[in-house]
Amino acid sequence: MKRNTGQNRNVTKNWRPATQAIRSGTMRSEFGETSEALFLTSGYSYDCAEDAAARFAGEQDGMTYSRLQNPTVRMLEERIAIMEGAEACRATASGMAAMTAALLCQLEAGDHVVASRALFGSCRWLTDSLLPKFGIETTVIDGREIENWEQAITPKTKVFFFETPANPTMEVIDLRSVCSLARAKGIVSVVDNAFATNMLQRPMEYGADVVAYSATKMMDGQGRVLAGAVCGTEEFIEGPLLAFIRNTGPTLSAFNAWVVLKGLETLDLRIRRQSGNALEVGKFLEQRVEKVLLPGLPSHPQHNLAMSQMEAAGPIFSLYVGGGRARAHALLNALNLIDISNNIGDSRSLMCHPASTTHYGLAEDSRLEIGITEDMLRINVGLEDPIDLIEDLDQALSSVGL
Ligand SMILES: *Cc1c(COP(=O)(O)O)cnc(C)c1O
Repeated sequence: MKRNTGQNRNVTKNWRPATQAIRSGTMRSEFGETSEALFLTSGYSYDCAEDAAARFAGEQDGMTYSRLQNPTVRMLEERIAIMEGAEACRATASGMAAMTAALLCQLEAGDHVVASRALFGSCRWLTDSLLPKFGIETTVIDGREIENWEQAITPKTKVFFFETPANPTMEVIDLRSVCSLARAKGIVSVVDNAFATNMLQRPMEYGADVVAYSATKMMDGQGRVLAGAVCGTEEFIEGPLLAFIRNTGPTLSAFNAWVVLKGLETLDLRIRRQSGNALEVGKFLEQRVEKVLLPGLPSHPQHNLAMSQMEAAGPIFSLYVGGGRARAHALLNALNLIDISNNIGDSRSLMCHPASTTHYGLAEDSRLEIGITEDMLRINVGLEDPIDLIEDLDQALSSVGL
C-alpha cells in the first residue's frame, strides 16, 4: 500500500492538529520531495483540445489557470480546511481580500449585516463605508451581549460578522450563542479567526458557517508574507466564493502559499509558546500599568468565556498606561528590544499605538466607544525569552515614570 502523503482526507481528518498542520494536503510529485514543491506557473497545458474543453466544462479533474488553481496554493487550502474541520477552503492574497470576498460574494443590495463593533480597522471600513455604497446596510453592535445580536436582526439580515478575541480591544464573543442564534434565524455567521487561528479556536465546532483568516498573522507567523483564507461548506466555497474569486482575482501567489505552508508546520509550537510568553509579560505589566486586557489572565472580564472556547489566549493583548498619547508614544520610543510595529502574529515582539496607527481611520467617537483610548498600547509577544522582554518593558516603563 502506498504511504499516505497527506492527500487522503479520510485519513488526514483523523490526525491530531499538530500532525495536520505539518502533513495534511501535501501532494508529492513524481520526485518524492519531502517538502512541498513550489509551482511557479500561471498556466497549464493539455494533451489535446478535447482535454482542455473537458476541464473547462468541469468534466475532467485538473488545473486550468493559476487564478483558479495552483498545486502549491491547493496544498495550503487543503491543509487549512482539514485543520479547520471545514469541507473546503480558498486562499486569498491577504486577510482583507478574504474578508471582502467572504462578505461580498454572498451579499446584495437590500441585504442587512449585523457586525460586532470591535473589528480590525479595515473590517470596520468594509461594514461602515464599503457595504453601504452597494446598498447593504450594517448595524454595528456591542457583540458581547447576545441580546444585542437578537435586537439588531431585521427581516433582511443575511450575515453576522465578528472576530473574537477582537483587535485590539480583546473583547470576546460567545461563539456558541451567537452562531446558534444565526443558525436558528437562517443567517450566515462569518467569523474572522485571525487572532486565535484554528490551532487554538475552531469556530465551526460552535456552529460558525464561514471562518476567514488573515494568514499573514500567526499562520505565516514570521512576518514574511501577506495571505488570507476563507473556509466553509463545499457549496459556499466552490459556489459563490469561487465565482467571486475567479472573476475578481484576489488570488494568493504560489510563493506566498509555500511560505505559509512552512509557517503552518510550526504553528502549534509557536502559538503555544507565544501564548505562554504573553501570560508572563502580561502578569508583569499588570503590576505596573493601569489595566491589562489579556483574555488569558483572570483579570480579563471575559476570562472564563475566553478559556472555554480557546485552548490558550494567544500572543496579543492591550494595555492602558495612563497619561494619554504623550506617555504611550514615549513608552514606545523608550523600547530597545521590542519593535514599534503594527504587525501581529510575528515571532518578534512588536508594539503599537492603535489610536494613531491601525485604528487611525476610525472616527474618534467610535474608537472611544470600543476602548481605543489615547493611552492604549497593543503588544504582540514573540518567541524571545520573556525575561528579556520584561527587562525591556521594565526600563521603558521606568523612563516614563511607571
Ligand atoms: C490583520 C488582520 C486582518 C487583515 O489581514 P491582512 O492580511 O493584513 O490583509 C483582518 N482581521 C484581523 C483580525 C487582522 O488581525
